[in-house]
Amino acid sequence: MPATTVPPGRILIVGGSIAGARTAQALRSEGFTGELIVIEPEAGEAYDRPPLSKEYLTGAWSRAQLNLIPGGWASLDATVVRAHAAALDGQGRQIRLSDGQLIGYDALVIATGLSPRRLVADDGEPIGHVIGTASDADALRHQLRDGAHVVAVGGGFIAAEAASVARGLGLPATIIDRRATLLEGSLGAVVGAHIAANHRNHGVDLRTQARITSIARDGSGAVITLEGGGLVRADVLVAGIGSEPNTAWLQGSGIRVDDGVVTDARCRAFGAAGVYALGDVARFYDVHSAKPRRVGHWTNAADQATVVAHNLLHPQDPIGYREAPYFWSDQFREKIQVAGHPDPDAHVDLLTLEGPTPRRIAVYTHGDDDGCSAVVTFGWPRGMVAVRRLMPLEPTTAEMLSELEELAAGARLVAAR
Ligand SMILES: Cc1cc2nc3c(=O)[nH]c(=O)nc-3n(C[C@H](O)[C@H](O)[C@H](O)COP(=O)(O)OP(=O)(O)OC[C@H]3O[C@@H](n4cnc5c(N)ncnc54)[C@H](O)[C@@H]3O)c2cc1C
Repeated sequence: MPATTVPPGRILIVGGSIAGARTAQALRSEGFTGELIVIEPEAGEAYDRPPLSKEYLTGAWSRAQLNLIPGGWASLDATVVRAHAAALDGQGRQIRLSDGQLIGYDALVIATGLSPRRLVADDGEPIGHVIGTASDADALRHQLRDGAHVVAVGGGFIAAEAASVARGLGLPATIIDRRATLLEGSLGAVVGAHIAANHRNHGVDLRTQARITSIARDGSGAVITLEGGGLVRADVLVAGIGSEPNTAWLQGSGIRVDDGVVTDARCRAFGAAGVYALGDVARFYDVHSAKPRRVGHWTNAADQATVVAHNLLHPQDPIGYREAPYFWSDQFREKIQVAGHPDPDAHVDLLTLEGPTPRRIAVYTHGDDDGCSAVVTFGWPRGMVAVRRLMPLEPTTAEMLSELEELAAGARLVAAR
């Protein structure tokens, strides 16, 4: 059993999404009986964000199905204050809220996540939709009707999922991105080309290697001009052009911020005592790659919550965060799952597992030691369970492939055509 020390009397969690909610749950389930205060500007119960560009956007899921805490905040005996944190006094251990209120703490957990970047029209004002909150998704969903042409800008997961939802609803969809394939920045060119081909097969008009030179308002839509003169008219414009960590409120606090709140492997922030950061907003020290990393994936936020809660309650027996990254995306009814670090510069084999239901798998190999650094599975959740079990053992690519062939009852893995 870990040594127990006196826990902090009042823990303040700023940000009430998955990272904040899972921290609160872990604190209570580890026996924390002190005061728990959550600062969260959005009304309602804590909700899950991944479905916002999937089941919730199609209308298949209700808001209630997004709820993260069965029984809500009240079941955790947490006081939720509906405001933005506006400033932190790390030495005085208090934060100032947007309404001027000051709240002190014994320990502070920063879980403020990201805000999506917006497109800017020629008139200098923001234009189009983003998908960061449930209200954003509500606003977008109401526009997905009457044959509206949906244009997503950016070649990442949000744009790919928005286009996939649009096509699923029978709407014409276009993706505009400056790279050569989709998801190239996160998964590399080989897997990116495979995903791009899938989008084309489903009728998405892909404008790759395209640079936008102008976005003009056109009624409730927009006319986008591409370098070279091409025009794309959007009834519904969606930005999937990345996000910024919500750290403006930490300015001048002494907390080290550098593309996110910088933490050690135990999720402790630098610059003030008793401050932790986790989830999308944190740039933590990653023990696998021996460098700081910011990871914008759900599982990372949820897993770090366990580490933060443990370290808050057992400071004399701290643990580090060492989970291998994992995330997923749903496109055209297929689950794409990614485990490990899919370094876009690694050697990538795109393979087909032959059998009654052929499966596509991409395996990333790094260095001279044939180490398997990442695996992407397409529509094979069972395979991904095996991959995630094996990944922490740092297998070679040959070991990973043999495990997957065995799982698929001896099916052969061959190069995908
Ligand atoms: C549309 C969408 C689809 C996604 N799909 C996937 C997916 O398929 N797979 C996957 O792995 N990940 C996915 N993600 C990413 C995943 O949802 C995030 O990794 C996860 O939500 C991060 O949780 P978080 O609690 O760290 O931050 P967030 O969920 O961003 O929450 C931050 C919270 O902090 C609050 N906040 C911000 N500033 C302040 C302030 N100053 N004061 C107080 N509160 C503040 C916000 O209101 C918000 O509630 C998706 C994200 C989005 C938006």
